[in-house]
Amino acid sequence: MHAELDTSTRITFPAGGTRTRSQVLAVLPYDDGRSGVICRETSFHPVDHTWPDHPADHGTLVLGDRELPVVDCVIGAAPRSGGALLTGADIPARRGDDGWLWFVVHVVPESGADLVGQPVECVVDPARRVGLSAGHTACELVSLAINEATSDFWTKVDRRDVRGVPDFDAAALSLSRIGVNGSVDRYRLGKSLRRKGFRADDLRAALPDVARTVQDRLREWVRADAAVRVDVGGALVEDRRTWVCELPDGAVRVPCGGTHVESTGQLGQVGVTLDLTEDGSELTMVTTVCGSRPEDLRVHS
Ligand SMILES: [Zn+2]
Repeated sequence: MHAELDTSTRITFPAGGTRTRSQVLAVLPYDDGRSGVICRETSFHPVDHTWPDHPADHGTLVLGDRELPVVDCVIGAAPRSGGALLTGADIPARRGDDGWLWFVVHVVPESGADLVGQPVECVVDPARRVGLSAGHTACELVSLAINEATSDFWTKVDRRDVRGVPDFDAAALSLSRIGVNGSVDRYRLGKSLRRKGFRADDLRAALPDVARTVQDRLREWVRADAAVRVDVGGALVEDRRTWVCELPDGAVRVPCGGTHVESTGQLGQVGVTLDLTEDGSELTMVTTVCGSRPEDLRVHS
């Protein structure tokens, strides 16, 4: 491993950072002739290897008058005791596990061995960042809203969410994907959910009402323009991060590694659709927002 990589990457994205002056510590071969650039500090949000719901920031690494496009950004990890740096799905540990150093790896489409040691500015594409942030904030809110909209379907309570509502999202979620200005959540309505006490068979008839309740709750939270922030346990990429939203009925705190808008009002119009498969085994919730604008993003340097 490179001797310079003796500490994990420092990150500025939890506070909304999109431009960070830094230094290139190492450049590694990546796939297809591309390279992975590791900087001391960065504003780029990498896709997480254990919970890859939030896609990577894109943007540019600026080195003097040279600009390298960042076409992907992933988590890297290396054993503290020494050994190869691994990326993405090859990492056999969870982010934050002791015994590992954690890195943000900027994927650039060329070899950049000559960059090591140079000063660099990490510049995130602000439009993509704000779109993904809006998609993620909406995704957190809509999961709370669907819990509320389905709370009458439980014959016994399995577990409750941060608002004290029966947690359908935690009990049934099989896939969650955030995109620019939206998200898709998929729920499995199988035997195990029924065994936990969820009356899945009654959902089809009530689906329009459930969708309306989710939509109404989202509109209410957007109108309230509740403050949103990410609390951090430290400055390193592996430190614990928590999404905090000051909803009108009380602040909610959810462990979350992603980026977010600064208030629910930035989401503007939010649309939610619910689709149940013919056999009733899977529910898909598609959320779209269309109020977020790059100029709403606070830009830090
Ligand atoms: Zn999250």
